[in-house]
Amino acid sequence: MIKRRLLIAGNWKMNPSIDDSVSLAGEIAAGMDSLKGVDVLLAPPFTALGVVREAIKDSGIFLSAQNMHWKTNGAFTGEISGAMLIETGCTHVIIGHSERRNLFHETNEMIDLKAKAASLLGLIPILCVGETLEQREGGHTFKVLKEQLDLSLNNYRSVGIMPPSTILAYEPVWAIGTGKTATPSQAQEVHRFIREWLETSFDSKTASQVRILYGGSVKPDNTADLMSQEDIDGALVGGASLKPDSFLQIIRFS
Ligand code: PEP
Repeated sequence: MIKRRLLIAGNWKMNPSIDDSVSLAGEIAAGMDSLKGVDVLLAPPFTALGVVREAIKDSGIFLSAQNMHWKTNGAFTGEISGAMLIETGCTHVIIGHSERRNLFHETNEMIDLKAKAASLLGLIPILCVGETLEQREGGHTFKVLKEQLDLSLNNYRSVGIMPPSTILAYEPVWAIGTGKTATPSQAQEVHRFIREWLETSFDSKTASQVRILYGGSVKPDNTADLMSQEDIDGALVGGASLKPDSFLQIIRFS
């Protein structure tokens, strides 16, 4: 069995200022000194990418953006391309976060274009999927997830190849920023479903290599239980990544 390396990713959303981003990144980088065996990634706002890149230099922390446009350049006022993110030092980009899907009406088709553009450029997408509370309570979780996966990874499916560095994130919408976390077994059940989907859509090698993160109110006190599940390969952390102490505790959960 391939051992997947855990990834703990912090999504700062539209929160810290440039100055706050520098201190936050600096404290996290300083606290990582002796850390081994876990990858760490930070996704600051666009405006702070450059300063965070400097603050995490030589720390081994990966730099990610929170969104991108699928075109490389052109008349797309207000958008940022993957090429621009690479120029800024990003190696990763979050795509299809539920806030983008729900508040900014991003469709699976748009997310699919972004995933394709990111990997053509050599940026690693962290592609998010997840059901709402209504969908879960109506018993539609797996149907919703299958549709999101099928459509937002359609370009990969049509060629039958998904770069194994691609990262998926299961983020139940009802658990994001609400303090409600999926139980470890609820999360594991969905992660297993996603891994089986990878095997059916691609092959068993891809399924065993792709990392699937869990996101939704991850905190220092629930990290170890979630990370102990066989198909959970890390965490996408929102609120708790804004406090250096709690993010460092999550990174050092074991
Ligand atoms: C997120 O927005 O990706 C997230 C998981 O947020 P939180 O940890 O605050 O629930």
